[in-house]
Amino acid sequence: MQKIIVAIDGHSSTGKSTFAKAIAAKLGYVYVDTGAMYRSVTLYALQQRLINERGEVSEKELVAQLPAIRITFRYNKGKSASETCLNGKNVEQEIRSFSVSQYVSRVSAIPEVRERMVHLQQEMGVNKGIVMDGRDIGTVVFPQAELKIYMTADPQVRAERRYKEMKEKGCEVPIEEILENVKRRDYEDERRVVAPLRRAPGALLLDNSRLTPEQQMEWFLEQLAALRINL
Ligand code: C5P
Repeated sequence: MQKIIVAIDGHSSTGKSTFAKAIAAKLGYVYVDTGAMYRSVTLYALQQRLINERGEVSEKELVAQLPAIRITFRYNKGKSASETCLNGKNVEQEIRSFSVSQYVSRVSAIPEVRERMVHLQQEMGVNKGIVMDGRDIGTVVFPQAELKIYMTADPQVRAERRYKEMKEKGCEVPIEEILENVKRRDYEDERRVVAPLRRAPGALLLDNSRLTPEQQMEWFLEQLAALRINL
């Protein structure tokens, strides 16, 4: 039986992690959420007061402390989901907080932080059998992945999905504001100097604006079949 690496990149709010988790469950593979890793480093920086009230990151100190940051994933049987741990402590909820979301793009733009995360991610993939999602998986982390997918969807559709999600959580933000945020993140992700979001050479394009999760899985299985890999 052959094990492969599935690398998934794409715009924010395209449902990358939902899709990646479904693929990992289908294949019996490990799922790695690389956004959670950058979020954990950001949480560490906030805890250690390495981000000041003006939002400036003490880069030198953070880089010096990188060896002290241990990020692991622990499987929660009850929730059938993998949870992120920072130095042994479950931080799955905390890393999704507004303050972490606010600073994560700044922290993830630090070259040494990226270098360290990419190294850890590559180690996780040595035995293959992994589905990893992020912004630079097909371009930087695993350019040799057997299956690379680049996900996108119409910004209006993504904003509507986010609006619905937030409303269900009891948080109502005007849809225009969400659409603005979606477009701004696309712009920032694609234009940043280090590891900008790009469709990797050979990456299959998946525009899921009008696809249900079931149709996306069908599409994925068709791509696998076309690869003629005996999984
Ligand atoms: O995927 P998620 O939105 O949780 O990622 C949070 C942030 O981490 C992104 O907005 C991006 O700035 C950064 N990130 C990255 N490279 C990755 C994954 C995430 O720079 N591979």
